[in-house]
Amino acid sequence: MKIAIIGIGSVGSAVATSVANTGLAHEIVLFDRDGIRARAAAEDLGHAAAFSYDIKITAVNTYRAIRGSDIVIIAAGANQKPGQTRTDLLHANAAVISDIVPRVMANVDSKTVRLIIVTNPLDVMVMLAQRISKLPPSRVIGTGTMLDSARLRTILSRQLSVSTQSINAYVLGEHGDSSMIVWSSACVGGVDLASFCRQTKISLPQTTRRTIEHRVHNAAYEIIQGRGATWDGIAGAVADLVRCIVNDERRILTVSTVDGIGDRSLAMSLPRIVGRTGVVATLTPRMDSPESASLRRSARIIRKNFDLL
Ligand code: NAD
Repeated sequence: MKIAIIGIGSVGSAVATSVANTGLAHEIVLFDRDGIRARAAAEDLGHAAAFSYDIKITAVNTYRAIRGSDIVIIAAGANQKPGQTRTDLLHANAAVISDIVPRVMANVDSKTVRLIIVTNPLDVMVMLAQRISKLPPSRVIGTGTMLDSARLRTILSRQLSVSTQSINAYVLGEHGDSSMIVWSSACVGGVDLASFCRQTKISLPQTTRRTIEHRVHNAAYEIIQGRGATWDGIAGAVADLVRCIVNDERRILTVSTVDGIGDRSLAMSLPRIVGRTGVVATLTPRMDSPESASLRRSARIIRKNFDLL
């Protein structure tokens, strides 16, 4: 398995580390328009690999060198500065995706390659990458709200004193400020949330739910305020997605891919079955009517931003 990572900044280098640590790739190639940065990252990662898996990790300065890649991860582009929203990056990062995707496509096998998009604003970048690459939507996969869902499960795990692994709760819609939590279908170990709380005598009133929503929405802003950028969470999400694809695990992940065609096409996060060929199926969870309305609103925001390009 050869994996290429384009954009070796805070996120790209953390992604390289986490993907290397899966042990699933025999070769990882790193490309950044800043060649010195990519070379330094490859050197450092190569030393780390000496303590774990025997992987060939190289920095490359031409797209020809990504030939033979099974998966290409795009993590290049501007990141949020304190106070900026993901949407503020729209035009700058549309230019980055428009620069990278044609070069990638000229050097990969379009019949099999899977593109993983990390660059923000995520959903719009997925739509743009899919349109430029002309790949089937199922193989242009944005990490979407995988990270937001992980943040939700982590907060709930502490609140409910139960492992994150036992919590099925999703954040859907935009990977951005309009994302929404589907409380209606959240469950713990197959028991719906309200019933779980009753049985364990834990109270999760509306005010607490609103605080949790606020924390999920603000997690990135707080991390950026504290450490300048976010990278560990998203690196974990990308490694998990790579594992799911390479091992054909067919787990349900809240990734973002394009659904629909023409003017009605849209990428946003929904629970989707992911396997070797990318997104295999998309599910519609049970939602109450305010939740359905929030999801539609999130979809409208993504579409509006895409139309600005
Ligand atoms: P960074 O500034 O640290 O790194 C960006 C890198 O991209 C730089 O090394 C730069 O040289 C490179 N780059 C820019 N344009 C390029 C081009 N045309 N070709 C090749 N390389 C190019 O930024 P970061 O913190 O690593 O963030 C990268 C992206 O990931 C941002 O858009 C950020 O918002 C996004 N991000 C997404 C998530 C998510 O959940 N999807 C989470 C965190 C960050």
